[in-house]
Amino acid sequence: MSGKLSRESASFQTGLASVTPLHSAFYRQYNITVGLLRIDLLHPQISGNKWFKLLPLLQRLESGERPRVLSFGGVWSNHLHALAYVGNSFGIRTLGMVRGHPAQASTAMLEDAQRWGMQLVYLSRDEYRDRDAPAFLATLAQEYLGWEVLPEGGSNADAVQGCRTIWQSVQGSDWSAPDYFVCAMGTGGTLAGVIAGKPSRTQVVGVPVLALGDAGEHRVRELLSQAQVSDPQGWCLDHAGAFGGYAKLTHELAAFLLSFECRIGVPLDPVYTLKMMAALNRRVVRGQIAPGSRVLLLHSGGLQGRRGMLSRVETGASAFVGPQLV
Ligand SMILES: *Cc1c(COP(=O)(O)O)cnc(C)c1O
Repeated sequence: MSGKLSRESASFQTGLASVTPLHSAFYRQYNITVGLLRIDLLHPQISGNKWFKLLPLLQRLESGERPRVLSFGGVWSNHLHALAYVGNSFGIRTLGMVRGHPAQASTAMLEDAQRWGMQLVYLSRDEYRDRDAPAFLATLAQEYLGWEVLPEGGSNADAVQGCRTIWQSVQGSDWSAPDYFVCAMGTGGTLAGVIAGKPSRTQVVGVPVLALGDAGEHRVRELLSQAQVSDPQGWCLDHAGAFGGYAKLTHELAAFLLSFECRIGVPLDPVYTLKMMAALNRRVVRGQIAPGSRVLLLHSGGLQGRRGMLSRVETGASAFVGPQLV
């Protein structure tokens, strides 16, 4: 199977993604079968899960609507990157509220976004913290009359409905109802969508990549309810998977990333999919994945953001001493 999707043409509705089997002595020893669902390959710029999160917007654009869209993110945001690309492809105005300062060094992400016509406005850390506060949003609505506001990461009811269709990628294959489905969690829209669409026999494990605590579960339930989906149960969060916080990269993780890429030949991004892989392996060692299980992991893309961390990966990996995370 190969990822086959038409790009800026009339079929943003469905997509087939391939599954890369992960063969390793480690998984064989624990008698589990592991596959990586390659939605990272569906589109070169609207990367991985962002394609599904933006799917309802893409469908509106294809039917001729031309909204102006404003959203939020950091200086390496995969979401703003994807949104800027969509804006350029369909000729709509986009605006990114960026956590940072214009005097800071630019990033390859911000340069791409600007090249694709996204207008950038910088918010200080304090301002950015208020991004979901009703008072802030009310001021924004007045200042940017007529603009549609997408929350950070694009996580809203539409994103849940879009990500629900990730399951269509495996329909009819032997991965259609795995025992476990594992995916990284940032703002939660992707995970909530995966939960909304899951077969009842599948356990979904979300791996928050930042320290969320109970707010993580709360956030998933909130998104399900915004999308008017009743909680099907059969899911949990692996809170140990954050490895110290958002974009924190231990030496051990850095070494794991390089060895994984060498062995499997699939690039991971250090912020999301790397931590998801590490969390799965730890669950396996801890006996939290029953022998005989089939485990499907979501390769949610995000490789443009990897550009910003490569030197940290190399420095970290070369400083690492000790046994590998397998
Ligand atoms: C944005 C992103 C996520 C997180 O998705 P949420 O819906 O915000 O939880 C996961 N993986 C990658 C590669 C991403 O870019």
